[in-house]
Amino acid sequence: MTTRYKTQAFIFGKNDVNEFDRIFSVFTDEFGRLDIFAKAIRKGVSKLRSGIDTFYFSEIEFIQGKRRKTLTDAVIIEKLKNIGKNPLKFKIGHNIGEILSSFIIGEERDKDIFKLLKETFDRLDKENLTDRQCARLEYYFLWNIISLLGYRPEVEKCSVCNNKLNPESIYFSNKSGGAVCKKCLSDDLKVLIINSDAVKLLRLIFKKEWPLFCKIKISGPSQKLFKKISDSYYFYTLSDNSSKNILMRKAE
Ligand SMILES: [Zn+2]
Repeated sequence: MTTRYKTQAFIFGKNDVNEFDRIFSVFTDEFGRLDIFAKAIRKGVSKLRSGIDTFYFSEIEFIQGKRRKTLTDAVIIEKLKNIGKNPLKFKIGHNIGEILSSFIIGEERDKDIFKLLKETFDRLDKENLTDRQCARLEYYFLWNIISLLGYRPEVEKCSVCNNKLNPESIYFSNKSGGAVCKKCLSDDLKVLIINSDAVKLLRLIFKKEWPLFCKIKISGPSQKLFKKISDSYYFYTLSDNSSKNILMRKAE
């Protein structure tokens, strides 16, 4: 007998395959990330169509075959309809899906990531955000998922000597995992220059102060520094995380 699995899922991506089929990338409550095959879903008569699409929270049912999981039922829990109506929100939603997809390759249950996804997409859908605030939400998600994966950087003190940071001269090193003071600079650390405003943004994120983080005004150059270290740390943790995944797969 075939076992049917039922779980809540957030749908963050889809890919059309064959003439009428589609593969959905979903993050589920019970199993973590899954890629689910939806047979003939692009045919007008498909009963699955109304229950599942990008940026839906749905209850899905699937069966595990030899090679893939096949969708057998999908019921909408909530459709985040405002995201689809706003091109910027849609783009940010897509970017967040890409970040998730790049970090989470295999199936592994993670309630905290599911909760973070739900919170993030609820905010994107329901809050009245300016363009800048929308972009900040993407970074808020990025740093929080980095933190949940165990790569949270040290931003309260120097990550090398543990001494207090001097707001006039702060650096950031991916390798040492956070802020670095002037005394600890070395060629080996490959630091980026950062400033106290960019550090302030990171501190707000790790304290989960979204309302303040989304509203706080900082200068254009500080904003650029924040973006630069965010992107740099993202690619750094991503390469480290994928080599860990490869090691895990080899060990299995
Ligand atoms: Zn130091």
